[in-house]
Amino acid sequence: MTDTPTDDPFADDEALDGDPLAAARALDAADPLAAYRERFVGVTPSAATPEPVLAYFDGNSLGRPAVASVERLQRFVIDGWGGRLIRGWDEEWMELPFRIGDDLGSTALGAGTGQVFIGDSTTVLLYKLARAAVDSLPERSEIVLDTDNFPTDRYVLDGIARERGLDLVWIEADTEAGVTPEQVSAAVGPRTALVVLSHVAYRSGFLADARAITRIVHDAGALVLWDLCHSAGSVPVELDDWEVDLAVGCTYKYLNGGPGSPAFGYVNERLQSRLVQPIQGWMGVRDVFLMGPEYQPADGLRRFLSGTPPIVGMLALQDTVAMIRECGIQAVRDKSVALTEFALRLAETWLTPLGVALASPRDPERRGGHLTLNHPAMREVTARLWERDVIPDYRDPGGLRIGLSPLSTSFEEVAVGLAAVRDVLGELIHE
Ligand SMILES: *Cc1c(COP(=O)(O)O)cnc(C)c1O
Repeated sequence: MTDTPTDDPFADDEALDGDPLAAARALDAADPLAAYRERFVGVTPSAATPEPVLAYFDGNSLGRPAVASVERLQRFVIDGWGGRLIRGWDEEWMELPFRIGDDLGSTALGAGTGQVFIGDSTTVLLYKLARAAVDSLPERSEIVLDTDNFPTDRYVLDGIARERGLDLVWIEADTEAGVTPEQVSAAVGPRTALVVLSHVAYRSGFLADARAITRIVHDAGALVLWDLCHSAGSVPVELDDWEVDLAVGCTYKYLNGGPGSPAFGYVNERLQSRLVQPIQGWMGVRDVFLMGPEYQPADGLRRFLSGTPPIVGMLALQDTVAMIRECGIQAVRDKSVALTEFALRLAETWLTPLGVALASPRDPERRGGHLTLNHPAMREVTARLWERDVIPDYRDPGGLRIGLSPLSTSFEEVAVGLAAVRDVLGELIHE
């Protein structure tokens, strides 16, 4: 996506200045993915589902459930768990982390089979893969990371550095943008073992140039681990093509796996037999039911598992992977760009005059699926919006985060939600 320029979808849109709600409806009418919205729970009034909120801007933190997941989960409890009982492990569940991983990998991550698995939480997978990476390069002593990465990433790496006597090399990231290839070039060297960065920054939405940065890291002889939490399912990722070593990502954000659904991990095939991860559990061994005297890691991807896979937690994400497979990740990205561009236009029209500043990249090629809008009153604005059933989230300092999950968000929802931001902020300013 970095090599194809994105056309301005609103270049000729006179209506935007006059009647944004009409413009939003016209965009919905022309949206090739519009029908996907109906495939999520809680978007249309119905007796069987909760009262729809006016606008949901947090699908990048906790995605909505797919309608298909209701049936999938119910069927699993009755037929799978209830009917197959312990036989389910042999028949399906032992392989499920890898089968879903392959599906996700080929649909949204550009990963060939046998390299993606569903595992523990993102935090735990980060620990396992980062520890395995630094242990594989014992003659190197530094981990490169950035000051604006998500807290868990920074904390986990700090813990690994202490545990292994390594040094952390910090890139000072611009909180309204993100880490550039030039900054990575300046930070890596012959002592670098591992570089850990987010593909899409959780605060600004900055989309890093993963291909260029991966090449820079490799030229320094180090390994790279990409955190894909805010890109998986909204931005096309080409892990094999970029020659990425390791990656992790959440499944409860754009992949709609549900609260606490387990993360995915990617280990490039060429590294699998070289890396040994630190949580040596019985599910990662060559012959699980041999119950042997010592830990013998499995040959392939299985060695990155530790304990019993969280099967119930990995069911729902399959429904979103199936939808993305159906429409194609590029179509998802195109809608995502159109949604954030539309939100940006509305913010400029309605919120800039109230003193709101954009804290995300203006260029859609350098932006993921969310926008951050800064104003000192945004913490209070967010609290009042939640009471009115308009749900963005808040990130310090003063950032209102507008996450626009492409399959489940309509342009009308964007217009209604941003009009509410304008009204609430206007009230607060005049109080
Ligand atoms: C959401 C997010 C996480 C969350 O990690 P958990 O272990 O699932 O709590 C980690 N890293 C990034 C960049 C995130 O956006």
